[in-house]
Amino acid sequence: MKILWTVELNKKLCLILQTICNKMKPAEDTPYLKGQRKKLIDELREKKMLNEEVLDAMMEVPRHWFFESAFYKYAYQDRAFEIGAGQTISQPYTVAFQTTLLETFPGCKVLEIGTGSGYQAVVLAALGCKVFTIERQRLLYEKFKLMHTALPSYKTRIKYFFGDGYKGLPAFAPFERILVTCGAPDIPGELVDQLKPGGIMVIPLGGGEVQVMTKIIKGNDGKISVSDHGEFRFVPMISDKAKF
Ligand code: SAH
Repeated sequence: MKILWTVELNKKLCLILQTICNKMKPAEDTPYLKGQRKKLIDELREKKMLNEEVLDAMMEVPRHWFFESAFYKYAYQDRAFEIGAGQTISQPYTVAFQTTLLETFPGCKVLEIGTGSGYQAVVLAALGCKVFTIERQRLLYEKFKLMHTALPSYKTRIKYFFGDGYKGLPAFAPFERILVTCGAPDIPGELVDQLKPGGIMVIPLGGGEVQVMTKIIKGNDGKISVSDHGEFRFVPMISDKAKF
């Protein structure tokens, strides 16, 4: 009985969401919002070691697309922001830093764990990557699915999945790059297996409040080398799909 009720509620919520999102087109990119974005990217540029192409891609992608209109004023602040289901869109500096570490190139095949708002996936698509992204929260997956149809050309480069990122996507492996955007207690073995020899994985490691940004390079002989790149805070990587 309880299960049936939950299924019904689930369907209803999806319908409501669909109605809202069907009306949703990527919001207009006004000169004011573009100006705010430029200011943010210039601030990020002041911080060292961020890749220029990554910053250009972040200048190209309107981050306010991933916010409700009431919250646009927060879209160009360098901070994480709630996106529903208890999750957050990552802080712009974190996106720039992780993407810099990932060393992408046009056409490279990237697996992202934690679609969330979809912002990071679209930044990777703007860099010319072929993106495969997984989300375990149905609401966020559905929201991105609806938004995806309204995205400009980037959408052809993004495939999205509802599932458990710990398992990766064996049917589409190997990947040249893997980017994990939630904090994992340990390096997931199945993701290492799905990384192509010569590939790079960027993953925040640590089960507590703070994670260490970790870069893993898989040698052509299959051996991995690991380096640390400072402390960050992420929502946790949780196994299995969320029940609701
Ligand atoms: N890349 C996102 C950041 C989202 S926050 C963006 O640009 O907005 C991290 C996301 O990881 C959350 O949405 C959370 O639900 C998701 N997540 C946590 N554990 C996961 C798992 N095992 N598989 C897939 N997604 C997971």
